[in-house]
Amino acid sequence: MAMQTVVFALAGLMIFDGLVGPQLAPKNLATVGAWVHYRGLVVIALLLAGNLFCMACPFMLPRQAARWLRERFLAGGLALPAFLRGKWVAVALVVLFFFAYELFDLWATPWWTAWVALAYFVVAFAIDMVFRGASFCKHICPLGQFNFFGSLISPLEIKVRGAGVCAECETKDCIRGSAGVRGCELALFQPRKVGNMDCTFCLDCIHACPYDNIGFSSRVPTRELWADPFRSGIGRFSARRDVAALVVVFTFGAFLNAFAMIKPVYALLAALQAALQASLAHALHATSDAPGLALIFALGLVVLPAMLLTAAGAASRALGRSLGLSFGQAVGRFVYALVPMGFAMWLAHYAFHFLTGALTIVPVVQSFLTDTALYRAPIRWELGPLVPLSWLFPIEAVLLYLGAFAAIIVAVQIGMDVARPAPRPARQGLALRMALPWIALVLLLLGFGMWILLQPMEMRGTFLMVTGGAS
Ligand code: SF4
Ligand code: SF4
Repeated sequence: MAMQTVVFALAGLMIFDGLVGPQLAPKNLATVGAWVHYRGLVVIALLLAGNLFCMACPFMLPRQAARWLRERFLAGGLALPAFLRGKWVAVALVVLFFFAYELFDLWATPWWTAWVALAYFVVAFAIDMVFRGASFCKHICPLGQFNFFGSLISPLEIKVRGAGVCAECETKDCIRGSAGVRGCELALFQPRKVGNMDCTFCLDCIHACPYDNIGFSSRVPTRELWADPFRSGIGRFSARRDVAALVVVFTFGAFLNAFAMIKPVYALLAALQAALQASLAHALHATSDAPGLALIFALGLVVLPAMLLTAAGAASRALGRSLGLSFGQAVGRFVYALVPMGFAMWLAHYAFHFLTGALTIVPVVQSFLTDTALYRAPIRWELGPLVPLSWLFPIEAVLLYLGAFAAIIVAVQIGMDVARPAPRPARQGLALRMALPWIALVLLLLGFGMWILLQPMEMRGTFLMVTGGAS
């Protein structure tokens, strides 16, 4: 709660500055805080620790108030309707958010950034006031889903220390809760919990367990992707098409999001705009980017992923035909090999913004304090990049290569797990053959990612953006 209170106060300041402060993105707390620091620090925390940002989530405090109102006035509240459960709503919201982000240039608009944050608070509060459990976190919140996706590669997880203690335990307080202490609202039963999916690092289970049998545990990053056990509160990954869709949207979305901020995309948008208007006889609005952008999104998030996954799944199935896997089983297992590659692209992209704009926070805070008459010294507008600009590409490239390396390891490990029923002499060859199409897909994404990083990129959120600088 201490972390949540600090982040809640920071969010309040950002919203205030977004609504009434200077409307130039690199001068405003809302845009610099949300699009440079929040995003940069989220991916660094996921890489080095785990889902620390859900742990410190500023929406938790209003959600506590919503819970109190629900229990007092709505008889405990309703269960979330079945059609809203799972990740499909979150997948749709993530796509909608990516689209709106590009269409309305949210990174450049303090006022809209503040309204998006305010709307987030209102929706989180409203959903948790009506529906019981952590419905918003588990099924709706796009930021939370991104953290769940990223935490699949994190080096820490929250898990039981000793299975024997759980076997003897009669109260199961970690899931049921006890007087005044909540059990896991996300329906993750510790003895059967596997990995980080759906875990907000809220620590409720740690507080609830009467035997102090739960704690942070280190692990080999990505390891939870190698096998497909039954996971408490989730089931098997291979049976969850919605979770697979989330992985696909975040993986291909990482490349699409980075692609949207390089110079060639503007030429592509203009060409699409012209083609669409010619073919639809001016039925579309002459100045709107929406139709062209929608076409790029349809290609990047639906058509291309469908084609690539179909090819990789069919090839994988054919190469491992002796195992008798269906096409759906092949895709359902191997698609998780893409997680490290997708995360690496987010990391490289957000690291770019963070490294070029991290120190902007100093003059922005000075300016904010000057406006409130709390600071009188000169404002250090010259501050911005954290490292020399010539370091950016090597850093991003190393992150991308490491992501590809991890993705290849995961593909081979999944192959080893899938090929387990095969006789031992044939097992390794079979595993490698089945993994090959996915390794090829990872290398294709790596090549595309490197090409994106080599393009001139918008310096969003820094003064280099205003003065027209580019990498
Ligand atoms: S309350 Fe503690 S000991 Fe009991 S099942 Fe949960 S984690 Fe295990
Ligand atoms: S209660 Fe424990 S298992 Fe459940 S979300 Fe919080 S930290 Fe994760």
